[in-house]
This record gives sequence, structure tokens and C-alpha cells, in this order.
Amino acid sequence: MNKQALPVPSRIPWRQRLQFRLIASYGLLVLIVLSLLMALVINAVYSVQIDQAEHDLEVKALLAANALEDPLSGYSSELEEYERRESHDGKESDDGEDSAGEEDDAGDQGLTANAPGTNGLQHLANRYAQQDGLWVTILDVRGDAIVDSRGSAAAIGNQLLTPEFQAATQLVEQHDIRTDPAGDVRYMFAAAPVQIGDNLLGVVRMAQPMSDVLAPIRGLALTLLLAGAAALALATVLGIFLARRLVRPIQRLQETALAVASGDLSQSADIDSIDEIGSLARTFDYMVSELQEMIRRQRLFIANASHELRTPLTNIKLRSEALLTLDGEDPALSKRYLHEIDSEADRLGRLAATLLDLSKIENREPPPPEAPTDIRPMLLDVARAMRMRMKDAGLTFAVSVEELLPPLSVRANEVETVVLNLLDNAVKYTPPGGSVTLRVETEQTAGRTGVAKIVVSDSGPGIPPEDLAHIFEYFYRVDPARSRLQRGEGTGAGLGLAIVKTLVEQNGGRISVSSTEKQGTAFTIAFPIPSR
Ligand code: ADP
Repeated sequence: MNKQALPVPSRIPWRQRLQFRLIASYGLLVLIVLSLLMALVINAVYSVQIDQAEHDLEVKALLAANALEDPLSGYSSELEEYERRESHDGKESDDGEDSAGEEDDAGDQGLTANAPGTNGLQHLANRYAQQDGLWVTILDVRGDAIVDSRGSAAAIGNQLLTPEFQAATQLVEQHDIRTDPAGDVRYMFAAAPVQIGDNLLGVVRMAQPMSDVLAPIRGLALTLLLAGAAALALATVLGIFLARRLVRPIQRLQETALAVASGDLSQSADIDSIDEIGSLARTFDYMVSELQEMIRRQRLFIANASHELRTPLTNIKLRSEALLTLDGEDPALSKRYLHEIDSEADRLGRLAATLLDLSKIENREPPPPEAPTDIRPMLLDVARAMRMRMKDAGLTFAVSVEELLPPLSVRANEVETVVLNLLDNAVKYTPPGGSVTLRVETEQTAGRTGVAKIVVSDSGPGIPPEDLAHIFEYFYRVDPARSRLQRGEGTGAGLGLAIVKTLVEQNGGRISVSSTEKQGTAFTIAFPIPSR
């Protein structure tokens, strides 16, 4: 026998193990879903946060602008004064005079580039800046900084073209996020116009570092990340648990398979889950039970075959010993023993031939289906050949074969063997005066092209119900005492019907039997009629 090496489970590299693959794919899936969810949440929160911060910043700029516009505050007059000076200076052309004045006021505040007479504005800018941690700049109508909360108005370039300045002068709300070139820090900018009547006096611009704007989200992102990591860890633990549960029955099945392979057929996988693995385990258990049954039948076959062979051999041995003892003393008895030896040898020969036939039929590759053949002539030949035997046995023999019997996909010679066997049994078991019938007819079946039925019936003793289920088994014989024939008078070894059944099935047909004790037996064979 070609024995292969047993697959040993521990040799599977860990990365190839089902358990690892399941956990890895499950974990990866959870990771992807969690990341996507987190990205979506953070994105949504980011948008809301930016909108909120923009709104807040614009409101603060507006409030500051309102404060500047209030005539009672004095800021507006400072602004107007500044404007007047600027426009006056502009008319007088640049001669550097005002830069001296600038220094006077700036020195007062410790600032480097403040316009003169703008202390109030500077205080205001500083107050708003301190209050909300903002960067506040008050710009004139040309986009130049008048005061700056960081104290470097002169360092701030012209802001005329910035989106927030443009928006403020056109009285619309808009924010901008960009990097401050001076400090390489990203800011959110918003601005509001300072107006007295229709007269635009300047623009208040507020900026908040993006790190402050996004600080609340950073906390949220961290929380989400921690929650995600916890969820992933939980999912992995759950995955390990599920994978173990899934893999354990497979391991159990493998252990059982190994035990069965080493010859212990009493093992069963015994897995009662209703999933595919449970179903596989039940199929496996079914396979093992079928295997057990097959082995049991084979053992029985061998026991029966040896028994059948031993009986005639014993008979031969007894008679040959008697012959030796007689040593030619009783010629008549010696002759009788010689005849009996001859007949037992014939019986042995027949048995050997039948066993050989059976082994050939059982072990061959079933031949491919035949082209449809007309079996009517063969059936009529068989009936003709049997007529004489029926007459000798004192039986009436009725034959009816449908005239228009359609061709069948069968091997005619094998069907002939089958019909001959059944007719032979009918003759053997039906007492004289009885009748035997061979009837061949077609029958329509629902949704199919129909079947051709060959029925062999007799009016013999019938088969007891308890035997009926077994008569197609190897070596099965109904108790000979109930039959009119005694052993040796023509009964076979109980193999005829087993051969008949195998041949019928190998030709695509089915055989069934019905019998009533003391009334008779009918064997029915049905072959499907091939569609044209
Ligand atoms: P055998 O070679 O002994 O006839 P078979 O396999 O042909 O073996 O038949 C099995 C048993 O079935 C027979 O021993 C017989 O008892 C019973 N049997 C078969 N055909 C008939 C029949 N037509 N009427 C009654 N009994 C039958």
C-alpha cells in the first residue's frame, strides 16, 4: 500500500495557521474601520471647530471695531486725528518730519513703531489681545498698521491685499488661515471695519494661533486614539477567542482523522455545532460509519466465501478418506463416493466461477453508457430458451414484451444475464403446477421520458418479509428448509441476486422486489428511457 506520511499539525508555520490568519484579517478590518471612523469624526469636528473659531474671531473683531467707533471712548477721535495727520503728511510729501514725532509717542509705550498720539488705540489693542490671547492689529484705510498688540506696527507690512482686509473694507465676513512670515506660525485672521457714518476710518484685525484654535480637537483626537486602541485591543482579544472556538473543532476533526487513519474506527469527531464545520464533522462521522460497514461486509464476505468453499472441500476430503480406507473393497460404495466427489468438485468450480464473475464486475471501472440498443430480440430469445425448462419443471410461462419497446442505453448481454438469473430463480423456487411471467413494458413518469420495466414474477412460495430486505446481499439465502429445494439440489451460494443488483445498477437501472408468502414473488427492473 502506498502509505503517505501523516500530516503533523505542529509543523504548520505560525503565519500559515488559520488561527493567526483569522485574527490578523479580523484585526486589520477593525483597524481600517476604526481609522476611517476616526478620520471622519475628526474631520467633522475640525470643520465645526474652524467655523466656531472663525465666528468667534469675527465677533471679537466687530466688538473691538464697535468700541473704536464709540464717540465717547475717545478712540475714534484718536483715529480721526491720525487720519487727518496722515492725509496732511501725504499732501506735504515725505520729508521725514513725522518720523521724529512718531518716536516721541512710541518711547512713551516702549514700542518701536507706533504712530504718535495713538496710545489709546494701543491700550485697546493690548486689552483685547490679553483678554483672549489674540494678536490684535489696528490698520488704517490703506492697510498699514497703526498699532499692534505685539508692539511692532512698523514690522507688519501692508495688509491691503490680505483676504480679511479686503473683506472688511467691502463689509463682508471672511477669515483666512495662513502662516505669519515673521514667526513661521499659522494663524487664523479675521477683520472688521471701523466706520463713522459712511466714513471708513480703519480696520481692526484679529489673529488667533491655529495651535490655540485646534487645541480642543487635539484633546479629542487623543481621546479618540486611546478609545480606538482600546477597541482594537478588545477586538483582538475577541478575535483570538472566536478564532480558537473556530479552530478547535477543526483540530478535533484532524485528531479523529489521524486516529481513524491509524486504524481506530471507533473514533468519531462528535462536534454538535450546526455550522459548516459541524456539518463537515457529521459528514466525516458518516464516512467513518460507512467505512466500518464496508469493512464489516468485507469480513462477512470473506467468512461466507471461506465457509462456502470449505463445505464442498470437507465433503471431498471425507469421501476421499473413506475411499482410501475401503481400498477398493466395496466397488459400489466406492463409485458412489467418486460420483459425490465429482459433484462437489463441480460445485466448487461453479462457486469459484461465480466469485470470479462477481469480483470482475465489482472491481471494473463501470463502462461508459452504451448507445441506445433495442433489447426486444434478446428478451424474446431468452424467453424461447427458457420455455423448455419451464415445461420440464411443470410450470406455465407467460411472456409479453411491448411491441414498440424503445431502445435503452444498456449492455444487452448484461441485461440478458440479469433476466436469465431471475427466470432461473423463478424456476428453481416455484413448485410444479405454478406459473412464471416475463412482462416488459414502458411506463411514463412525471416530468421524465419514462422507464422501461422488466418484471419477472412467479406463483412460488414467496419470500418472508424479514428476508426480503437481505436477499440482494452476498451469500444471503432464505432458510432452505422453507424452500422446496434442499441444499445441493440446485440452490446456489446466495450470490445470484447480488450479481443481478450490481449489473442492473451499473447499467443505470434499479431493481426492487415484492413478495407475498405462499402467493409468489415479483422482481421489477426499471431502466430510464433515454431522451432522443
Ligand atoms: P441462490 O443462488 O441461492 O438462488 P440468489 O441470490 O439468487 O441465490 O437468491 C437469494 C435467495 O433469495 C435464495 O436463496 C432464495 O431463498 C430467495 N429467492 C430468490 N428468488 C426467489 C424466488 N423467485 N422465489 C422465492 N425465493 C427466491
